Amino acid sequence: GPLGSVNIISGALELRKKTVADVMTHINDAFMLSLDALLDFETVSEIMNSGYSRIPVYDGDRKNIVTLLYIKDLAFVDTDDNTPLKTLCEFYQNPVHFVFEDYTLDIMFNQFKEGTIGHIAFVHRVNNEGDGDPFYETVGLVTLEDVIEELIQAEIVDELE
Ligand code: ATP
Repeated sequence: GPLGSVNIISGALELRKKTVADVMTHINDAFMLSLDALLDFETVSEIMNSGYSRIPVYDGDRKNIVTLLYIKDLAFVDTDDNTPLKTLCEFYQNPVHFVFEDYTLDIMFNQFKEGTIGHIAFVHRVNNEGDGDPFYETVGLVTLEDVIEELIQAEIVDELE
């Protein structure tokens, strides 16, 4: 089965061959919130219906991710107050961490295991297309689950899915 030791070992070896870019969720497919959103009933319903427990928050441009909203941060929010998301973000100040798209998954796995970057990271690429100076471009997000799926070489179907 998918959790057999032979599969785990071959999965562990696979981690060295695959990169973050191979398993990340593309930034265009991410469920995110704009920093200037209001936490009204509609927005909080959308967040709950998304099913994600970590929501990237961007300022202006979707590639400009400034912080993270955790579902648990919404525990004391009353949707009747129309609280600005920014107020909540300034209170919690959840940090975001970046990794490069060419990191191999064994490195990524160790980073997640250490616990210093949490269980989600944003993926940077060096963009040197065009005439200007090269710059870091945010291209995706990767979670511990994306790496573990490679390790066990099977899909993890989320609860309630
Ligand atoms: P948890 O299972 O801890 O509640 P989750 O279901 O929100 O978390 P993960 O289990 O970490 O998310 O990841 C499941 C998949 O969803 C992964 O492929 C990951 O890249 C993707 N993912 C995580 N957060 C988002 C998001 N905000 N928008 C789109 N995809 C996401």
